[in-house]
Amino acid sequence: MHCRKCPRSAVIKMPRHNTALCKDCFTEFVRTQVRRAIASHRMFTADDRILVAVSGGKDSLALWSILLQLGYRADALYVNLGIGDYSVQSRQKVQRFTDTVAAPYRVTLHIHTIEQEQGAGIRELATLVRRPTCAACGTMKRYQFNRVAVERDYDVMATGHNLDDEAARLLGNVLHWQTDYLDKQAPVLPASLDGFAKKVKPLHRLTEREIAAYALLHRIDYIVDECPMAKGSKLLAYKHALNQLEMESPGTKQNFYLQFLERRAASPDAHHTMAEQDRQHLHPCTACGQPTSAEVCSYCRMMARARAEAGAPAH
Ligand code: SF4
Ligand SMILES: [Zn+2]
Ligand SMILES: [Zn+2]
Repeated sequence: MHCRKCPRSAVIKMPRHNTALCKDCFTEFVRTQVRRAIASHRMFTADDRILVAVSGGKDSLALWSILLQLGYRADALYVNLGIGDYSVQSRQKVQRFTDTVAAPYRVTLHIHTIEQEQGAGIRELATLVRRPTCAACGTMKRYQFNRVAVERDYDVMATGHNLDDEAARLLGNVLHWQTDYLDKQAPVLPASLDGFAKKVKPLHRLTEREIAAYALLHRIDYIVDECPMAKGSKLLAYKHALNQLEMESPGTKQNFYLQFLERRAASPDAHHTMAEQDRQHLHPCTACGQPTSAEVCSYCRMMARARAEAGAPAH
């Protein structure tokens, strides 16, 4: 099988683009998709300081590596969730990446460790506050990423969400007609007010498979196992369903998600959506100062409850 762009051998078949590419042409394809995402959504410029949320998985490490190679100033934040062996291994992958691939760029890796009573992790914290682990984890990560981005003066926070993630989330939101979430599902969430970091998803035009191939070809050593708490999640079921459709008809995922973005951008309400809504509904949390629509933000409420439960006598 030959590359469709040059005489070399192809290393990847890409049915959604009806093509096959060699390593160099595929690398260029991936970088072009990222450049396009950054430019068309005005994510950041070469002068901006970027904080990449890294988990040790392929998406976030590939994102960090691509941004550095494209010449952007990108540091990273790793949140250690304290989920047994999974966290030990993912922490090692992040550290190794920082010490090897990222080292020549003189980057900073910030690490936040979730330490509840006796150093327990997110699962124990979630049990204590009687919330599903992933819900507690989401609250925790959102809070910590935003806090570090704002306190350390980063212009923008980047996450490794890919096309599969975004299409699966869109499918879930459409199936349940979660229109509030649909409004917020964008590759850019603006820094609508003080204390809120701008958030971007530069990999949203690339599929999980393409990013895995990129990581493999560029010898990015990442944690292959998913977080054990993801097992049985709805999002995985939606991804599976979309993969079935994609096999039958290549390009389905891309059409579904990218056309959703195009249609929304063309709608007359698009411009006064998120930023305006946020400005109207958000104000500083009375406990920590981060933006919230309630008096006290969900992170502070969760931690207050954890402290109360930890101090409460057993029954
Ligand atoms: S699967 Fe759940 S617990 Fe694991 S990282 Fe994702 S949100 Fe957190
Ligand atoms: Zn080629
Ligand atoms: Zn708060």
